[in-house]
Amino acid sequence: MSRVAIVTGGTRGIGEAISVALKNQGRTVVASYGGNDAAAEAFTDRTGIATQKWDVGDFDSCMDAVEKINADHGDIDILVNNAGITRDATMMKMSWEQWDEVIRVDLTGCFNMAKGVFPGMRTRGWGRIVNIGSVNGQGGQIGQVNYAAAKSGIHGFTKSLAMEGARYGVTANAIAPGYIATEMLSSIPEKVMEKIVAQIPVGRLGQAEEIARGVTFLTSDDADFVTGSTLSINGGQHMY
Ligand code: NDP
Repeated sequence: MSRVAIVTGGTRGIGEAISVALKNQGRTVVASYGGNDAAAEAFTDRTGIATQKWDVGDFDSCMDAVEKINADHGDIDILVNNAGITRDATMMKMSWEQWDEVIRVDLTGCFNMAKGVFPGMRTRGWGRIVNIGSVNGQGGQIGQVNYAAAKSGIHGFTKSLAMEGARYGVTANAIAPGYIATEMLSSIPEKVMEKIVAQIPVGRLGQAEEIARGVTFLTSDDADFVTGSTLSINGGQHMY
């Protein structure tokens, strides 16, 4: 059965790997993005996957997007809340705007999208929601009170949503990636990166495809009995 999947932030980095893996699994995939049209065009050229631009932090835009995807592709069975940003600064220097932007995109974005798709999934008796958290939401990180709060919030959000969907065939799970080699890491100075890698038990950065494999499992029928869980894909870093 060709199920319809939305991957937010699905055009670059981890999201691209997730979109491609779901497509290879036979899903009809729509990859969303926030504003980088050139990256989205290049992504479609590479993969043949449809894209749609909207801001996941804006509630009305999410509702409009869900309506359009329902009309163009059919009922949405799978939602991967992957879109995320960082605006790092220590507490001493972080502005209210940096706090608000990250909470709005990384956490409120998950609510907005789930709000759009959850009722239909519940009515049809089948649905999969996977939220991309972070190892830094599990353990915290200097310079990331905004990001760690948003990602930690995702883990609580996931468990509560899982409880509400469990009797209706709708599962909700989170993945907590560790440091994955994508553009998001480009703002981290090389010396800091060296220290980070030294703290990862397996001794290397992760690959986007390693996160995607977790998503294809959690969104498959094989994962019917898995809900409210957090899959740590971070080379063992969550243990520290
Ligand atoms: P990237 O920065 O490479 O890609 C981010 C994606 O999110 C892009 O497609 C971007 O669109 C989209 N996006 C950003 N803001 C919005 C918005 N307001 N509305 C819609 N889409 C938006 O990120 P990664 O692939 O590295 O990260 C993906 C997820 O994994 C994030 O949630 C991140 O927090 C999480 N994560 C990443 C880790 C890492 O080491 N990379 C570690 C742990 C968690 P556009 O191209 O238009 O900008």
